Amino acid sequence: MAAERLGRIRALMDKAEVDAAVITSPENRRYLSGFTGSAGVLLVGHDETYLLVDPRYTEQARQEARNISVVEIQESWTRVLASLAADHGWSALGYEDEHLSCRQFNRLQQELDAVRLVPLAGIDTLRAVKTEAEITLIRQAVRLVDAAFEFVLGRVVPGRKEQDVALDIEVFLRRNGAERISFPTIVASGPRSAMPHGLASERVIGYNELVIIDCGAVYGGYCSDFTRTVATAGPLPWQEEVYGVVLEAQLAAIAATRAGIEACAVDAAARAVIEKHGYGACFGHGTGHGLGLAVHEAPRLGKKETGVLEAGMVVTVEPGIYLPGRGGVRLEDVVVVREHGCEVLTQAPKSRLLCVG
Ligand code: ZN
Ligand code: ZN
Repeated sequence: MAAERLGRIRALMDKAEVDAAVITSPENRRYLSGFTGSAGVLLVGHDETYLLVDPRYTEQARQEARNISVVEIQESWTRVLASLAADHGWSALGYEDEHLSCRQFNRLQQELDAVRLVPLAGIDTLRAVKTEAEITLIRQAVRLVDAAFEFVLGRVVPGRKEQDVALDIEVFLRRNGAERISFPTIVASGPRSAMPHGLASERVIGYNELVIIDCGAVYGGYCSDFTRTVATAGPLPWQEEVYGVVLEAQLAAIAATRAGIEACAVDAAARAVIEKHGYGACFGHGTGHGLGLAVHEAPRLGKKETGVLEAGMVVTVEPGIYLPGRGGVRLEDVVVVREHGCEVLTQAPKSRLLCVG
């Protein structure tokens, strides 16, 4: 598996006419080498691959990154890199311009003054199409959040703080096998639900409010991402109306998702429904994003994304409507792009606005 992935990055290196690639993003490092540690630099040459790690990770790297030469960093990784480049006679090195900091770039330039540094585009997109083994891990991560939602429903009650609900979710996820949560849990109630990314606060949940719950688990390194919106008592007619529009938009986007379609077409399917009902101005974000080792990765399902979806990509579908001062609704499922449609992994109920409390 690692050999196949390294083959794909080598094809990118050929295209960019570089002798080696310096991989510094944790997800790409893990994807290409199998090393799960939180620090280290992967150096992919045409015939050889090196993993540079500091002494905290040497043993772990040797166990996890098979068929890769592990080099222990004594002083700085840029110095090790410079000496490897000299040994191999490399004249051009690719780097991840989305992930290398300016400071790291400057140090690289200083150490490698004779070597040309070339930004390598598209390394992140190597991860976009998943194998069935990767999809199995994502499916497991989705099951955890489905179960967490069922568990927490009875605890989203007026009088409790958003943060307490978030903690219940996070403890449930960890107790049931999540390695960690994939991002800080969002519990946004009442007017706060009009903030698409309102992290759980000290706000006490009230009556007749919308509550957006957005959470994710990591299982085997792979992320899930999940959103449901519920109402505390009621629901009020406007809340049900907005919920109905978001649900219709989400179902339209899911129906549009299949291999061969442009990513922006999925966004357009959701947006058309929301605009038709007069809420176009209240849906400010894209319809979804890829997920895998990172919770947000390629492909993006936005208005301007012209990339074509491929079978095996895993994306979220998450339209929302946000009414400032009143509240918002978002629904988010994880789906696998298949040849003639998509497979919805998320199972939690959504067919009507659930009333809790
Ligand atoms: Zn989410
Ligand atoms: Zn998301």
